[in-house]
Amino acid sequence: MNVNNVMADLERKHPGESEYLQAVREVLESIEEVYNAHPEFEKAKIVERMVEPDRIFTFRVTWVDDAGEIQTNIGYRVQFNSAIGPYKGGLRFHKAVNPSMLKFLGFEQTFKNALTTLPMGGAKGGSDFDPTGKSDAEIMRFCQAFMLELWRNIGVDTDVPAGDVGVGGREIGFLNGMYQKLAREYHTGVLTGKGMTWGGSILRPEATGFGALYFVEHMLAKAGKSLEGKTIALSGFGNVAWGAAKKATELGAKVIAISGPDGVVYNPNGMTDEKINYMLELRASNRNIVAPFAEKFTDATFTPGKKAWSVKCDIALPCAFQNELNEADAKELLANGTWCVAEVSNMGCTPEAIHTFQAAGILFAPGKAVNAGGVATSGLEMTQNCMHISWSGKEVDEKLHFIMESIHEACVRFGQQPDGTINYVKGANIAGFMKVAQAMLEQGII
Ligand code: GLU
Repeated sequence: MNVNNVMADLERKHPGESEYLQAVREVLESIEEVYNAHPEFEKAKIVERMVEPDRIFTFRVTWVDDAGEIQTNIGYRVQFNSAIGPYKGGLRFHKAVNPSMLKFLGFEQTFKNALTTLPMGGAKGGSDFDPTGKSDAEIMRFCQAFMLELWRNIGVDTDVPAGDVGVGGREIGFLNGMYQKLAREYHTGVLTGKGMTWGGSILRPEATGFGALYFVEHMLAKAGKSLEGKTIALSGFGNVAWGAAKKATELGAKVIAISGPDGVVYNPNGMTDEKINYMLELRASNRNIVAPFAEKFTDATFTPGKKAWSVKCDIALPCAFQNELNEADAKELLANGTWCVAEVSNMGCTPEAIHTFQAAGILFAPGKAVNAGGVATSGLEMTQNCMHISWSGKEVDEKLHFIMESIHEACVRFGQQPDGTINYVKGANIAGFMKVAQAMLEQGII
């Protein structure tokens, strides 16, 4: 395989799909050497088959807003790869959603799910529906209209969606209600991230953020450091940022910044339970702004138009959106003394930002390893649903711990460099790739 040739071919087939092409290039560049050492992969054209989704469903979603106006959005489900298990991955509702974004997310999901140790293929879906400023009733009607189309293409053993940006417990509830009505099927496991009284797993809401901090703990321990007393700047204030803030605080770190599309909140005294709970209230308000945090808590200050990366911190955790941390941000963080960056959002850093961190020799880990605790706990939710039981919080947390430790170990195994450092990007990509590639190889040309 020659990365540039594969990329040239993909660019010709999918012009302008920048996020998708970025995600594929990043993976191919890190697996090239290993791939070329396996002629059987080349012979079976594994890469050419793996970079294209198995199939994409696209559908119109029409619904009526509170003013009685008819609204039309586009819905998608990208079923990327099912070599190691049923399709699995979240739904994103955001105004910028398009096929390129969902293909990048589905591609990443395939490797991430492989890293979790659980049998799950990769998928992603969503809509260009913008939840900002929508009432609960509008969100319900949209979710119902979305499921009216999606339901035929998903199922407990075929494809199990969950949440992502703009889709949390409330949306999963509306989606599940409509699915059951349409399918007349009452198995609890067709979606994950459900409410605790109807099949949800304890700790699923916290899992992405908790898992990320467990990963960071291992990463720091490997480097002879700990979280105790360290300052953390994180972006976003939604479900993922909330879980990360909660666990970071529990583990003795100080979360000194959160952010939103409107600006950054500097929070020099760190988080309290009240502040952490308020993050959830902010998200549920559907206003998509973080400024009210600094109105409610007077020890915090809000700066409009600034990112979390302008705050001096030891550890930076992107928790919001792809490419939210660019080269200029990376340089600002380094100038301020940041020595660890872990992507909690999917592809949170641009390739230039990653190169800047790697060239500076600081600790850096990619989203597909760091944030895999979310989908892993979805996998645990599926298991509980199939067994018709509920595990305790302790049981789920122990399993999540074990999974994050295994992912860290896999990154170390495949990312060990001759100079003794660990390239976590390479490690995660190679570990995920080897599992999916082997599974594809053994199942023939399909
Ligand atoms: N959207 C999350 C992710 O990016 C979770 C997916 C899931 O639980 O299926 O991994």
